[in-house]
Amino acid sequence: MTENFFPQEIIRKKRDAQPLTEAEVQFMVRGITDNSISEGQIAAFAMAVFFRDMSMDERVWLTRAMVNSGDVMDWSKADLNRPVVDKHSTGGVGDKVSLMLAPIVAACGGAVPMISGRGLGHTGGTLDKLDSVPGYNTAPDPELLTKVVKNIGCAIIGQTSDLAPADKRFYATRDVTATVESIALITASILSKKLAAGLDALVMDVKFGSGAFKEKYEDAESLAKSIVTVANGAGMPTTAILTDMNEVLGHTAGNAIEVRETIDFLMGKAPDPRLTEVVVALCAEMLVISGIADATTAPLAVRGALNSGSAAERFAQMIAALGGPTDLMTNPDTHLPLAPIRRDVIAPKRGFISQINTRNMGVAVMDLGGGRHRASDPIDYGVGLSNIKGIGAKLGPRNPIATIFARTEDQADAAEARILSAITIADTAPLTGPVIGTKITLEDV
Ligand code: URA
Repeated sequence: MTENFFPQEIIRKKRDAQPLTEAEVQFMVRGITDNSISEGQIAAFAMAVFFRDMSMDERVWLTRAMVNSGDVMDWSKADLNRPVVDKHSTGGVGDKVSLMLAPIVAACGGAVPMISGRGLGHTGGTLDKLDSVPGYNTAPDPELLTKVVKNIGCAIIGQTSDLAPADKRFYATRDVTATVESIALITASILSKKLAAGLDALVMDVKFGSGAFKEKYEDAESLAKSIVTVANGAGMPTTAILTDMNEVLGHTAGNAIEVRETIDFLMGKAPDPRLTEVVVALCAEMLVISGIADATTAPLAVRGALNSGSAAERFAQMIAALGGPTDLMTNPDTHLPLAPIRRDVIAPKRGFISQINTRNMGVAVMDLGGGRHRASDPIDYGVGLSNIKGIGAKLGPRNPIATIFARTEDQADAAEARILSAITIADTAPLTGPVIGTKITLEDV
């Protein structure tokens, strides 16, 4: 029999910084799921948690209750004969890592059923990038999803409404009540969806820097530690790697344009070195945590999958199996057209990039129509930025900061102004920091 409570009493307890019991947390999540708890009560509860926080036990209970609010995928019946492993990023600008990582890990022997999200605000979303591929189905039925993961080893799809429905309602209220930033609530939100995907293991990419959700390194580290503690506490082996978002990752930002960079990357055409480092580190960690390789052999396996073309082949197979073009890799110009107005952004003086407000580089993509202000906004897949320079790059009349692909001159003007405002120029080249930060394991928390 389930215990009965009054939501307002649970909210009052949290407001007064008293610990909640597992049954109380479960009651709140049940009420969020079946609508017996009002929007106002969810908002008050979220704000109480925001100020009073949750213990690690409370976070684990919240996460588990949100997982159990919907379906949990069960891969044991699919006969995969491979560990089921995924990566999740806290989001950034130009972060196309998932598109490369899923086929690489598949080529190395993992199964990657990756449930991705849409971009919101200045951050891009993997799902929007894939939606720029004509015909690609981000919502396959369970049979097709299982078949693709079994035969190819990876499938990148969107969240279904059956997975962690409590999170969907809770997140929508947090989004409009200034309570998204609570580390306890972010932890439960991300992990409820990952646990519902039935993973054997997870690697988190927690971004820090001017384009990240958590700008300060210490805040990103706290989030990483919370996620690693709670995920392991809920029974899913998880590690986190902190990575730098003080500049755009790779040299493109947008949707179709990032898929084009992905294709070039997988085919070995001028891969960006920072992007390569992040992809290799995260893929290698996935192989280690799922027992496919050890710390020495994992990076070699990842580079082998890239150099041999087997990762590119998996990517092409995944695209075709989910309804996309069979010749995407060889005909990206046909399938991933870019907006017609092309403009180089030239710095007002010569010098070196010493600092970038990466968030504003993401907002420049929104100025072009390539991102959303609200979850329901439509987006233009063909706009974006290419040729984006990083910290330390030399600027001059023939060395632009970036190239804009726009649909209208007005949008190009707005994006150009935004990019110029995002860049600080110095007379000498600055020292640049490493792109890979600390790795957080259960022993570190
Ligand atoms: N991403 C999520 O899925 N949930 C959050 O709360 C924040 C980012």
